[in-house]
Amino acid sequence: MSTMDTDVIVIGGGLHGTSTALHLAQKGMRPIVIEKNSVGRHASGVNAGGVRQLLRHPAEIALSIAAMDRWLNLEGLLGRYAAMCEFVGHIGQVAVAETEEDMRPLEARAAEVRRLGWTHEEVIDRNELRRLLPAVAGHCIGGLVSRRDGQATPYLTSQAFRLRAIELGVRFAEGVRVTGLAHGARWEVETSAGHFTSDILINCGGAWAWQVAELVGEALPRGHFAATMMVTARMAPFVTPVVIGTGRQLSFKQTANGTVVIGGGIFGTADLTKETADPIAERLRVSAETCSILFPIMRRATIVRAWAGLEARMPDQIPVIGRSQAAPDMWHAFGFSGHGFQLAPIVGSLLADLIVDGKSPLPIGAFRPSRFNDAKPQVGPVST
Ligand SMILES: Cc1cc2nc3c(=O)[nH]c(=O)nc-3n(C[C@H](O)[C@H](O)[C@H](O)COP(=O)(O)OP(=O)(O)OC[C@H]3O[C@@H](n4cnc5c(N)ncnc54)[C@H](O)[C@@H]3O)c2cc1C
Repeated sequence: MSTMDTDVIVIGGGLHGTSTALHLAQKGMRPIVIEKNSVGRHASGVNAGGVRQLLRHPAEIALSIAAMDRWLNLEGLLGRYAAMCEFVGHIGQVAVAETEEDMRPLEARAAEVRRLGWTHEEVIDRNELRRLLPAVAGHCIGGLVSRRDGQATPYLTSQAFRLRAIELGVRFAEGVRVTGLAHGARWEVETSAGHFTSDILINCGGAWAWQVAELVGEALPRGHFAATMMVTARMAPFVTPVVIGTGRQLSFKQTANGTVVIGGGIFGTADLTKETADPIAERLRVSAETCSILFPIMRRATIVRAWAGLEARMPDQIPVIGRSQAAPDMWHAFGFSGHGFQLAPIVGSLLADLIVDGKSPLPIGAFRPSRFNDAKPQVGPVST
């Protein structure tokens, strides 16, 4: 088999790998993305499509706001492929409070966000909640809103990023698995389809990224989980913003075609070796019941399909973004813990800045791989 040589190899054709390759190509590099399945096959293509600034971990807020600026100008990033993402912004995401007990943490959160210097999360009262969500159950008393937030169609978004990357000269090796890594003068990458070489290596391996890190002897958390989703048959439009639960686990949105997509904190069974994720029926039932409690109209809904996707999860619920501690010219970006879809446009851009210009315009110290050095190693899924 022949050797393929380039300046930078990205392992993983999820949205983060694809976005990183796209941004590197914009800066004049010639990335090859190596993907063991197909682009968008895992978390990036099967997620809930929530484009959310609301209730981000404080370390992620700056990135999330910068990412949202890019979502709101997708044409600047994706050109003629922007419309493929079916992105709708400025519909808002609302965390619904059913009780005073739900309201208190939302008020405390809004105060904390303001103290950190941000203003995008607003506490809303019963009247504003009804205005934003006319179909919400009568017992709900208020909530927290981030008004710029929105939604997109994940599989199409992954493909739009892939097509734009190809237009900029990125090459994709799909159906090719990375099996070995060695660094001599340069990176030597063994795969199921032969030998690749490059100067720089980027690990965007999603739930399998820890395995990629272990190929260079670097131990990083192995946490992963299967996030579960359901979708209904088409319904007449009744909800515009994306809704999340406060006292209950729920994420809920109606798409332009009328289907309602339901998810949020419902875990299935995950098998990294078989590369499968399956919903658990009883948990789907609880999730469906939660929908009907918050939106009584959902009692008439018909669930037509359920699925689950494999996602990496870090002990502190924030990603790993930064240089490998074990190998030169190697970078990691993974571990998005259930909320990386929204961050993809900015993480790819930051990595390209770090690699080409040597600095990040936004603070990323909280995401450094070394933060786990003192933690106990984890095995298997964190939660299923
Ligand atoms: C059901 C579900 C709902 C979600 N909802 C939302 C949401 O509403 N909003 C939000 O912001 N986020 C959401 N997320 C999270 C989001 O989807 C992920 O954080 C994001 O897609 C992660 O992208 P990634 O590129 O890191 O990983 P992935 O998309 O998993 O891509 C990693 C890729 O690396 C490849 N790979 C791994 N190892 C190798 C190897 N050795 N050789 C070659 N290729 C390899 C894999 O095959 C895979 O395709 C959700 C996730 C799930 C599963």
